[in-house]
Amino acid sequence: MAIDGSKFKAVNNRDRNFTSSKMKRRLEEIDKSIERYLRQIDAMDQGFAAVTEDQATDLKKKIASLTEEVQQLQSIEIQRTETPEQQVSLTDSDARSMTARGTGIVGYNVQTAVDTQHHLIVAHEVTNVGSDRRQLYRMAKQARDASGVSDLHVVADRGYFTGSEILACHEANITTYLPKSKTSPNQAKGMFPREAFRYVPKSNEYRCPARERLIWRFKNVEKGQTLHCYWSSACPNCSMKSQCTTGTYRRIKRWEHEDVLEAVKSRLDRTPNMMRIRRQTVEHPFGTLKAWMGATHFLTKGLKNVSTEMSLHVLAYNMKRVMNILGPQGLIQAMRA
Ligand code: SF4
Repeated sequence: MAIDGSKFKAVNNRDRNFTSSKMKRRLEEIDKSIERYLRQIDAMDQGFAAVTEDQATDLKKKIASLTEEVQQLQSIEIQRTETPEQQVSLTDSDARSMTARGTGIVGYNVQTAVDTQHHLIVAHEVTNVGSDRRQLYRMAKQARDASGVSDLHVVADRGYFTGSEILACHEANITTYLPKSKTSPNQAKGMFPREAFRYVPKSNEYRCPARERLIWRFKNVEKGQTLHCYWSSACPNCSMKSQCTTGTYRRIKRWEHEDVLEAVKSRLDRTPNMMRIRRQTVEHPFGTLKAWMGATHFLTKGLKNVSTEMSLHVLAYNMKRVMNILGPQGLIQAMRA
């Protein structure tokens, strides 16, 4: 199965969605406009500008309308700060600004698990959470329950890479294939990335680029995760130190379930085709569904209604797929059986 999410537009227009940054931007624009209008009126009062009576009345109307908008924004701001997601959508209150990939869409994140052989949507769910980080296990489990496949293999993109999600899949006997995010703050600074350190399970230590041994020092709990800490005593006198750390020692932290993540990486290295299969599988259903739904996507409002609307689309998609695979008679027979 390939798991993927795509952003679908809600009935809510972008201008009717308010996040902290949008509010700030709009208030700054209004401030500047009011200032400009007041300067023009001032100049007219002092006889410096050739502004007619009508134009002055017009400017005053504009200022009044902007002042009214500020008052509206202030009342929306109170609502916004009271919501857990820190944003308000006026037309569809459940719709959210989907900023995860810079799409700028106000809508929903539709998750699907699609079988790689026939491109049938085995499981789907509509959420209003923009990120895919917490969706892997949930979708994989739904796909397994719906398909009845006990030894399920799932492939997803790097947006799904979260240690706890991969561990949950591992513990449920679901085999995962997904790449890790490439963002490494050390690499961006021109320093050795974490991947330059090789773990040696036998001795429970790391080997660094200078071939020194980073031995186990202690373990602690950070954000609910047990982490083991390793470093080498050779760091202070190392000739490569400037490429490695700005501190006294380069410390490597290892999650207690890191071996599960290492297994994902080596599995993906052994099956390089997997990401191509993922792309080919998920593009088909999302492309088809969006083409059917048109430019506006959802017609209903609210997570419950939008979920029902999506379910109907998915049902229609799957029926058409099965008709293509088995023919209409084959589908009727399968439904009767
Ligand atoms: S600074 Fe320490 S960890 Fe880094 S290469 Fe040198 S010895 Fe190894």
